[in-house]
Amino acid sequence: MELAELIGLRPVPCGGLLVALTRRCPMSCAHCSTGSSPTAAGAPDPARLLGFIGSFGPQDRPEVVMLTGGEPLLLPELAARAARLARARGSRVALLSGMFFARGGRVPDRIMRTVTALDHFSASLDVHHEREVPRADVLRALRAVLDAGVPASIHLTGSGPDDPYLAEAVADVHRAFGPGMPMLVNEVRPVGRGTGLARATPAGPDGTSVTPCALAAWPVVTFDGTVAACCNQWTVDRRPVPPHLRLGHIAEDDWQTVRARSLGSPVLRMLRAVGPQRMHARYGTGPAPAGYCRSCHALADRPEVLAGAARDAGGRVGAVLDRLSTDQQLAAGPAALVRRMGCARYAHLVESTGERKPAAADPPAGAHPAADAREAAPPAAVASLTAEERSRR
Ligand code: SF4
Ligand code: SF4
Repeated sequence: MELAELIGLRPVPCGGLLVALTRRCPMSCAHCSTGSSPTAAGAPDPARLLGFIGSFGPQDRPEVVMLTGGEPLLLPELAARAARLARARGSRVALLSGMFFARGGRVPDRIMRTVTALDHFSASLDVHHEREVPRADVLRALRAVLDAGVPASIHLTGSGPDDPYLAEAVADVHRAFGPGMPMLVNEVRPVGRGTGLARATPAGPDGTSVTPCALAAWPVVTFDGTVAACCNQWTVDRRPVPPHLRLGHIAEDDWQTVRARSLGSPVLRMLRAVGPQRMHARYGTGPAPAGYCRSCHALADRPEVLAGAARDAGGRVGAVLDRLSTDQQLAAGPAALVRRMGCARYAHLVESTGERKPAAADPPAGAHPAADAREAAPPAAVASLTAEERSRR
């Protein structure tokens, strides 16, 4: 599974499931949106998490499960079990790592066993990560992942479109792999330890334009097992989660229940179709709070807006509206989505799928011991943005 397909599924309601395996991370990046660190607490109960994934049905499973953190590879055995279970149910599985293990350019066997249970592997790269693990080591480790037969991508984060770091890192990746290494380029958002490092996202021209929220499409299993409707970090961290953004808990609800709540919610349908500010403008009796996600959270205290959404999007019309909005975003393609939600200047890199340049000193493809393990893994029957996007707005 390549990055473009993964991102292309992002606007599909319940087309994916994001799972935060742990909040812990061996690194302590200055911009971390999840506030992760070696001592950060919080992880869903493993048995309940596996039970939740095991509840996927053949007709209703998410097309893709994205394992994130913190650092999901701090729990390599759990990540591998979750991946195998999801793949056995017909989902495909991707994982995003901060690459703490890559010092020296190697992928330890224990990590590689997990990587080869995946359909896609993504490495985070930015100036803060590079202070802890050199870029050259990350690129060498990615080469080993590709040689093991696992499609890979890089999630690159910079301060903005003109950040010279981004231009230099993209050129370096192209030197190492050619133009065929897909990249999702994001900008640091003012959330978590990133607060104060980044500019605030500007509001739309009138603050009320139709701006569908693609992030309201994939449910998120958060650090305490609560299932939230979106991966915005305020939503993931806030307790209680605002009722219109809470889909359940893995201790009480199965995937079918969570999916039915997401697909059937008039508020989520409207968020996915027109966005929160448009909802305030259409149904509200007072001005909407500034900020896209802030205005969404404020819906909990605006009964007149919730009632308007229930009236207009509660029935079949709401389902059709949801589907039309999804179809429109799918037709626009993954680069259009990244232009809107990531770093527009580099959005085209998400679709890089050409030949990857072989490394002169590489072993022949399949020579990595883990290649056998991949072939032995159960075949996938079918097919976020991702962790960085959780800090959106
Ligand atoms: S940004 Fe990623 S690698 Fe860095 S501390 Fe946060 S989770 Fe860990
Ligand atoms: S909080 Fe933000 S990302 Fe989440 S559903 Fe609302 S508008 Fe979308």
